[in-house]
Amino acid sequence: MTNPLLTDWNTPFGLPPFGAISDDDFAPAVDAALALSRANIAAIADDPDAPDFANTIAALEQADAPLNRVLGAFYSLAGADSNPARDALQRDFAPLLSAYSSEISENKALFARIEALWTARDTLDLTAEQQRVLMLTRRGFVRSGALLDGDAAARLRAVKSRLSVLGTQFVQNLLADERDWVMPLGPDDLGGLPDFVLATARAAGAEKGADGPVVTLSRSLIVPFLQFSDRRDLRQKAYLAWGARGANGGATDNRAIAAETLALRQERAALLGYDSFADFKLETEMAGNPAAVRDLLMQVWNPAKAAAEADAAVLADMLQGDGHTGPLEPWDWRYYSEKRRRALHDLDEAELKPYLQLDRMIAAAFACANRLFGLDFTAIDGPVYHPDVRIWEVTRNGAHVAVFIGDYFARGSKRSGAWCSAMRSQKRLGGDTRPHVINVCNFAKPEAGRPALLSYDDARTLFHEFGHALHQMLSDVTYESISGTSVARDFVELPSQLYEHWLSVPAVLSEFATHADTGAAMPADLLQRMLGAANYDMGFQTVEYVASALVDLGFHNGPAPADPMQRQAEILTEIGMPRAIGMRHATPHFAHVFAGDGYSSGYYSYMWSEVMDADAFAAFEEAGDPFDPATAAKLEKTVLSSGGSVDAAALYTAFRGRMPGVDALLKGRGLAA
Ligand SMILES: [Zn+2]
Repeated sequence: MTNPLLTDWNTPFGLPPFGAISDDDFAPAVDAALALSRANIAAIADDPDAPDFANTIAALEQADAPLNRVLGAFYSLAGADSNPARDALQRDFAPLLSAYSSEISENKALFARIEALWTARDTLDLTAEQQRVLMLTRRGFVRSGALLDGDAAARLRAVKSRLSVLGTQFVQNLLADERDWVMPLGPDDLGGLPDFVLATARAAGAEKGADGPVVTLSRSLIVPFLQFSDRRDLRQKAYLAWGARGANGGATDNRAIAAETLALRQERAALLGYDSFADFKLETEMAGNPAAVRDLLMQVWNPAKAAAEADAAVLADMLQGDGHTGPLEPWDWRYYSEKRRRALHDLDEAELKPYLQLDRMIAAAFACANRLFGLDFTAIDGPVYHPDVRIWEVTRNGAHVAVFIGDYFARGSKRSGAWCSAMRSQKRLGGDTRPHVINVCNFAKPEAGRPALLSYDDARTLFHEFGHALHQMLSDVTYESISGTSVARDFVELPSQLYEHWLSVPAVLSEFATHADTGAAMPADLLQRMLGAANYDMGFQTVEYVASALVDLGFHNGPAPADPMQRQAEILTEIGMPRAIGMRHATPHFAHVFAGDGYSSGYYSYMWSEVMDADAFAAFEEAGDPFDPATAAKLEKTVLSSGGSVDAAALYTAFRGRMPGVDALLKGRGLAA
C-alpha cells in the first residue's frame, strides 16, 4: 500500500488527508523524505557547475520541501492531538532531525559554494530579497562555526554539547525541587482562601497522596495562595521555598550549573569572534546590541520603580492597619495588592463571562481583519484530525488568500498553552503557494448545547494567536525561509500583541460581547471595569520582570561572572530593586535563560515587543480611527506582508517613520509621569 504522506493530496486546498493517515505512516514517510533531503543537499554540494544563486541558495530553499510537508502534518497532530505512539515518534524524530541539521551546517563543500556567492555578491545582480536570503543563509552557517577549523572547531562542538547537557540538568533539578516541596494545610490554615484555591490545593494534595489540601511550588497554586492566604507566617514559608528552588544545596542545586553555563557561553562567543555572548545573541535581533537593550529597559525601569514605590507605601499602610509591625515583605505584596484590587476594581468573573462567547470573539477577530485588511472568512469542510477542529477559507475581493484552521478546545491529548503554526508556509519559489495556518488554544469546552464562554484573558489569547496567523496569511515573499513569522525573536510578537489592542477597542466589544442568553450588549460600566482591571498593579509586574531582564543581560554582556549569585545581587543593588518585590525569575530557577539558549540575553524581548505594539497601535490612535485605512494598508505593506525579507528595524521604521519609543507603553501601563 502506498503511504498517503508521500502521495499528492487531492483534498480541498491540498490540506493533509488526516482521515487516510495512520500513525504507522509517519516514521517511513520521515525516513523517505529525509533520504530525499540528503540527496538534494548532496546534489547541491557536489554540483560540478560553478555556484550561482539558483543552483545553490534557491536549491537549498527547496531541498526539504517533501520533509516539511510530512512534518507540517505530524507536528500539528503531535502538539494538538497526541497519543503514546505520537509521543514516541516525536522522541524518535528529534535526534534524526538534529543530526540532519548538523550535517548541513558542517558540510564544507556546501559552505564553500555559499561563501563564494557571498564574496561575489555585488556582482551577482541579485534582487533585494535574494541578497537578504543569501546573507541570512551564510550567517546561519557562520554562527554555527562554519569558518572554524581544527582545534577551534572541535572545541566549539564540545562546548555546545556540554551546554546542552547543562541545560537539561538545570531543568531536571528545578523539577525535582518543585516536586519535592509541599506544605500541608490544616483546618486552621485555610483563612482567606476562596473556593477555587481550596479546590486546587485539595487536588494537589490528592495528587501528592496527602489526606488534605497542600500548597505546592506550582505557579498556578502558589501565586493564588500568596494572594489570598490570611496567614502571614504561611505566606512567608511558601514564598521563601518558592524563591529557593534550585538553590537548596545538594544534588539539585543549580548555582554551579549557572556559573559553568555562563562561562561556556562566553567561550562560545569568543571562539566565533564576538566580544560577548550578548553581542553574539543580539546580532540577529532587532535590538542589535546590548546597549540598545539596556537603554530600553532602563527607560521603563525608572517610571515602573517610582510607581511600585508609591504602591508599596499604600500596601505598607494596609499591613500596619492589620496590626503587623516591620516593613512590607515580598510575601505581603500579592496579598495586600489583591485586597486593594477588590476595593478599587471589583470585577466578578461570573458577571463578565456570559458576555464573552467563543463564537462571537472569533467573529470579532474576523470582523477586525475585514475592516483593516479586507479579508473575508468562509467556513468550509475539509480533512480534520479531530472533530472540534474548524476550517475557513480566507479570501480578499474573491481571491484565495489562505486557509485558516481553529482548534480551540482543551482536551487531554493537547499540550497546554496556545500557539500558531503554519502547516504550509507562503512562498512563490517553485509555484505560488498560499499558507495553511492553524491557531490552537485550550479553552474550556462547554456542555453539549451550551455556548463556549471565555474569560477576558482567553479572548486576548484568541486575538493574540490570530495576530500571528495574519502575519502568516498576509505574507507575500518569494523564499520560504523568510516567510510569515520567520523574523527576529524580538519582532515576532509585534503582530500578535498589536492585534490584542483591537479587542480592547470599546466599539468592538460593544458589538461582539453580547450576553449568551439574552443577546444584550455588555453594559458600559462593566466594560469599563473590565478594561480598567486589566492594567492593575503594573508597577509591581513591570519591576519584577525588568529586574530579571537586566540580570539576564548583565550575565551575558561582558566576562562571565565567577559567582552569578553575587553578580545578581550587585545588579539589583545598582538599579535600586524595591525590597518588597522579588525578581520574577531568580538565577537558580531562571529556566528561560538556563534551560537552553532560547531566551538567554533575550528575556528582554517580551518588553521590547510590548513597547513596539503600544507604539504601533498609537499610530492608529494618532490617525483618529482604530481602523484607519491608510495606517492599516501601511501596516500590511511594511510589516505583515514582508516576513523576514527586510531587517526588522527597517520594517518598523518604514511603518512608523522612526524607531519605537516607550511613551505609549508607559501610558498604557499607567506608568507615565
Ligand atoms: Zn505570541
